[in-house]
Amino acid sequence: MSIEPKTYNAPPELLRDRIILVTGSSDGIGRALALRAAALGAQIILHGRNVKKLEKVHDEIAALEAAPRPSIAVVDLATANNVAYESLADNLAEEFGRLDGLVHNAAIVGDRFAIAQYDAVQWQRVMHVNVTASFALTQVLLPMMNQAADPSIIFTSSSVGRVGRAFWGAYAVSKFATEGLSQVLADEHREGKLRVNCINPGATRTNMRLEAFPAQDRDLLKGPDEVLAPYLYLLGPDSKGITGQSLNAQ
Ligand code: NAP
Repeated sequence: MSIEPKTYNAPPELLRDRIILVTGSSDGIGRALALRAAALGAQIILHGRNVKKLEKVHDEIAALEAAPRPSIAVVDLATANNVAYESLADNLAEEFGRLDGLVHNAAIVGDRFAIAQYDAVQWQRVMHVNVTASFALTQVLLPMMNQAADPSIIFTSSSVGRVGRAFWGAYAVSKFATEGLSQVLADEHREGKLRVNCINPGATRTNMRLEAFPAQDRDLLKGPDEVLAPYLYLLGPDSKGITGQSLNAQ
């Protein structure tokens, strides 16, 4: 029987001995995923730009019974240069030697203006954080992923990265580009063991959503804990052979 990623029921210990980096795990979906994956046995590398927020998540994971103690990687994706990415990769290679999972989750929404009014500096910032940083991070971490037996990369898309929508500006375009990056990388590794897929979490109750829709009724939205099933499916062994796909969490 085929597995439905949206309703995947992760067995206990699913991610035991897997080393997984989740970008933007200081908050929102990334934080929820880091906590759940750690509870399933993963050695999590928490990534973000705000040390205090990351330390809080670190302590929450450390308090979980049987979860491996997480590491913290602080890199501001808006400003990081090649040296910062290479030093991150060197540090992780020294500490862990391999990487089993890489979840590109961090993103910013930017302004919601018509293209005619969209600020060019803001455009570059959104494209940089949401796309170029994922490219740079993937590139430096691929050698570590090649050391893993069953490596998996997940990119994070959005509904507006599948069908363009007015006023979503650089955010929508960055998510189209993210889908493209995921497909190109998946195709380049079609013959190998690396799996590369994309997930659209759908409308989720996080700071990003509330920033984009301040008047939204929070109670109508799924919480970050409720959209994790396809992420866990793609990070664990049950998705072996699945690559080049774009999944929906809702
Ligand atoms: P969120 O709550 O705003 O969390 C975003 C995360 O990214 C935070 O940890 C944030 O760090 C980090 N981040 C942002 N800019 C960064 C930078 N320059 N350097 C390093 N880290 C940075 O957002 P979310 O809703 O969980 O979104 C997670 C993913 O789902 C995103 O890719 C988003 O596009 C996608 N998505 C979300 C929804 C939704 O309805 N929520 C819908 C479709 C797709 P700080 O804690 O320091 O801010």
